[in-house]
Amino acid sequence: MTETTAKIRIDGLSKKYGGFTALEPTSLDIQRGEFLTLLGPSGSGKTTLLQMVSGLTPPTSGRLLIDGEDWTGWPVHDRDMGLVFQHYALFPHMTVAENVAFPLKMRKIGADEIRRRVAETLEKVQLDQFGHRFPRELSGGQQQRVALARCFVFRPEIILMDEPLGALDKALRETMQLEIRRLHREFGTTLIYVTHDQEEALVLSDRICVMNHARVEQVGTPHQIYSDPETIFAATFIGHSNLLRGRVEGREADGMARIATAAGTFRGRFGAREVNGSEHALIIRPEQLSLGPAGGEGMNELRASLRDIVYIGSDNRLLLGLPDGTEITVRQDPAHMNGLSAGDEVTVHWPADAGRIVS
Ligand code: ATP
Repeated sequence: MTETTAKIRIDGLSKKYGGFTALEPTSLDIQRGEFLTLLGPSGSGKTTLLQMVSGLTPPTSGRLLIDGEDWTGWPVHDRDMGLVFQHYALFPHMTVAENVAFPLKMRKIGADEIRRRVAETLEKVQLDQFGHRFPRELSGGQQQRVALARCFVFRPEIILMDEPLGALDKALRETMQLEIRRLHREFGTTLIYVTHDQEEALVLSDRICVMNHARVEQVGTPHQIYSDPETIFAATFIGHSNLLRGRVEGREADGMARIATAAGTFRGRFGAREVNGSEHALIIRPEQLSLGPAGGEGMNELRASLRDIVYIGSDNRLLLGLPDGTEITVRQDPAHMNGLSAGDEVTVHWPADAGRIVS
């Protein structure tokens, strides 16, 4: 084993149920201590991939390597991974402390050491006063904290979480996201996390693997995926995107190209991925658009009608209508609206290289 060996190597894992493909052959390396999130809509294959790593689902093809060793056929209990699912599955007849002690007892750890580690872990999830209670005497968030404690307490090298916060309300989910982030850093665990919530993925992850239709669309840091989406799906699934659909007309030597859309022909940067097929789009994030005509070289501009102004606290969100019915969004400082109102014709501009052409 070398320093560069991935902690987890997913090597062409795929899953078919009869004639139905739940996951196309997928390859992915996850580094030691990394927090990787599988993000995608319902049915995209996230759980299937996670379950093949856990050993709960046997793959149709491919291999799973842990620290360079082939674990593909290993049974679940030999993998010694921590698993946390949406339904906390605490033992109802055991107290909180007994629930957290359970994985240590299974591993035949001595009673003193168990007491010490249970106390330490309950403190880390802020439940040190709750050890004697039963799960039914706790709120949903507290129960999920017990589930996290029960997972982290035996210090697994790998933890797999499938929508662990799915049953909680928004405020509690946000608190628990920070908690999971903190626990992950503190224990230095390698963690794979499944969610369909893009904000959650952005908050938690070192890298995000965007999945759609049983395939990986893009893998990258949250910033890479937000600022440089490689496909229309990745661009629309993470953050708000303005999408101008059209036809690529000319590719230039500097990685730029022209795309003809209903609102005009614009220059934009090609994504890293080769663009093919007939459907292309220019992606521009709302914060890259500015009101007013382009004042220099290397800019694109278009005219549109202002349909609506939505106040969202820090910004105004201007909704603009294009001739083909497409709507685009511009963010604007409420202090600089210059008397604009719905129905006005406006011009917006953006640096050509801030737009990405993807398919
Ligand atoms: P969700 O967010 O809804 O959990 P997901 O991205 O995790 O979705 P999977 O659970 O991996 O999706 O399912 C991928 C596809 O495989 C789905 O279309 C699902 O219906 C199908 N599938 C999963 N398990 C089975 C099974 N045991 N038999 C047949 N089809 C299955």
